[in-house]
Amino acid sequence: MPELPEVETVKRTLEHYLVGKRIEQVTVYYPKIIANQTKREFEKKLEGEVIESFSRRGKWLIFHLTHYELVSHLRMEGKYFMKSSSEEKNCHEHVVFSLSDGTELRYQDTRKFGRMYLFDKGLYLDELPLRDVGYEPWSESLTESYLKAKFKGKRIPIKTTLLDQSIIAGIGNIYADEILFKAHIHPLKMTCQLTKKDCTKIIEATRIILEEAISMGGTTIRSYESEKGVHGRFQQQLLVHNQTVCQVCSYPITRIVVGGRSTYFCGHCQKKR
Ligand SMILES: [Zn+2]
Repeated sequence: MPELPEVETVKRTLEHYLVGKRIEQVTVYYPKIIANQTKREFEKKLEGEVIESFSRRGKWLIFHLTHYELVSHLRMEGKYFMKSSSEEKNCHEHVVFSLSDGTELRYQDTRKFGRMYLFDKGLYLDELPLRDVGYEPWSESLTESYLKAKFKGKRIPIKTTLLDQSIIAGIGNIYADEILFKAHIHPLKMTCQLTKKDCTKIIEATRIILEEAISMGGTTIRSYESEKGVHGRFQQQLLVHNQTVCQVCSYPITRIVVGGRSTYFCGHCQKKR
C-alpha cells in the first residue's frame, strides 16, 4: 500500500505533467470507486474543469480544479497512468480523464479498493474523509506533548497506534516498522507506557524516514516514463521491514504479526523493557 512518501511522489509527478490541463471528458467504468457522487454527477461535474494544482494530506491525493476538489486514495493497488488516447484501455483502468491535449489520465486499480471523492471547492478539509486526518509529520503542532496526550490510556501496541491516521497522518505498515527501528522502540510496547523522550524520538524518526523516502522518490521523477505509471514505490532502502539481518548489529530480524499486520523488528536494537 502506498504510504505518505509514495503519495507525495505521485503528487509531484502528476503536478509536473498535468497542471494547467483541461479535462474534456471523464468516463467511470467502475462506479463504486466514486464514493460521494453518482457516476453521472462525477462525469458531468468534471467536464471542462482545469487542473490548477495538486496537494497531499496524509495518504490522500488532492486535485484542485476550477470549481471542485477531487480527493483520491490509492489504497492497495491504485495507480495513475498517463497514456495517449489511442492506446487500448485495459480491464483494470476504471476511471479515464480525457485531457485537452489528447492525452488521458487513467486510474488503474487491480483490487478496486481505491476511492475518489468530489467536493465543491474549499470544502474538502471540513468533510470526511479528510476532516479526521491527524497532523502531517512536519506540522509544528506535532509535538511531544500532543503525542503524550494522544497516547494516554492507550493499551494497544505502539505499532498499531502509529497506523492510526487520526494521530499522525501518512504512516503505513512499512514505514511504521522503520520509524520504530530508528527510534529503538519495540513494536509491542504499550502505547500508554511511552515516555516523553520516546515521543520525541518517534517524531524525529518519522520526519527523517519519510523525508529520506520522499527524496528517493523525487530523484526518479526526472527519469519518469509515462508508460511505467505513477505509483511512487521507492522503498528499496528499508533497514528492518522485510529484512532478515539487522544492518546495525547483525542480530537476526524477528517477524511477528501485530493487529493483523506483518511487523519486523530487531530484538537487540529494540528492547521491550
Ligand atoms: Zn539490531
